[in-house]
Amino acid sequence: MDDLFSPTYTEARRRFREAAGSTVIASYAHPLKGPAGEDLATDLARLGPKDAKRVVVVESGTHGAEGFCGSAIQLDLLRARPTMPHDTAILLVHALNPHGFAWVRRVTEDNVDLNRNFLDFSKPLPENPGYDEMADALLPKRWDEASLAAAKSVLDGYRAKHGERAFVTGSGGGQYKHPKGLFYGGTQPTWSNRAVEKICKEHLAGVPHAALVDIHSGLGPYGYGEPLTTLVPGSPEETRARAWYGTELRNTRTPDSPYAGTEASIITGYTRYAPWAAWTPIGLEFGTRPREDVRRALRHEHWLYAYGDPKGAEAPAIKAALKDVFYPDEPAWKEKVIARGREIVCKALAGIATA
Ligand SMILES: [Zn+2]
Repeated sequence: MDDLFSPTYTEARRRFREAAGSTVIASYAHPLKGPAGEDLATDLARLGPKDAKRVVVVESGTHGAEGFCGSAIQLDLLRARPTMPHDTAILLVHALNPHGFAWVRRVTEDNVDLNRNFLDFSKPLPENPGYDEMADALLPKRWDEASLAAAKSVLDGYRAKHGERAFVTGSGGGQYKHPKGLFYGGTQPTWSNRAVEKICKEHLAGVPHAALVDIHSGLGPYGYGEPLTTLVPGSPEETRARAWYGTELRNTRTPDSPYAGTEASIITGYTRYAPWAAWTPIGLEFGTRPREDVRRALRHEHWLYAYGDPKGAEAPAIKAALKDVFYPDEPAWKEKVIARGREIVCKALAGIATA
């Protein structure tokens, strides 16, 4: 079990490529390097026939630092080589955001939350007045007791006035005005967004039935993998996802959702770049630490890059805390992740077989 989970991006990549062997079909080189000067890339492997009419895309590292669990699930699939239904393939996309994975950041090299970046940038950027109001409290310029207390009172005040749902959407739903801020969606397609476009054109061309399992971590109960969709409730895609994954599927658009739904997510990306396919896309979100701990670690790490010194004395502890909230390095958590990963991929394969 332990050797499925790699301590670094580089090791995860090495194991992925070694286990995939001749099934590696592409490697998209990233223009930047990792912290040790290492090469960065998004690697693709394919299990099953080249011309399969049904393809399940299993993806890791959309949010870079969340790549540890997704990469482990992919490695498990590569080693186990599950029996697949007729005319079906699995396309493994390893480290979609390799820069974030290597540097242990959730965001891309340009501080973009990739799951807020799949917009039509020819249209006006979405507004998020809630974030504007909370911006300085979410990301204080100084990280000390006094400014954190002041920030807390702003955030608590916003919550009390507008409610939890508005707080979740305002703080985490994505914003396009504060380039150093949290959940920043960017002003153009980022490198990893372009990679999705290439994957669709080069490896999903003409595929009539496609599924996506995009693996994340950091929200929900410890070790539980929750299938999520951002699709319009009742749409054909959402209805199909509900049939495959059952009542556990959570729609981020419903009013009681603890997640910030966004129309700029990777689900939109795949469905837009490969519109010829009937898509059944989900995110698979693994719970890690209590939500407030995750929020705090994320804010602190963003503070480090925005106003602190990423090479300074405080940096290692801040980075370690961030890694821990996305990747609890504990046997119990890892076992749950692998078992659930297998279960969900099995459901995707069974579901797409009925397409
Ligand atoms: Zn994520």
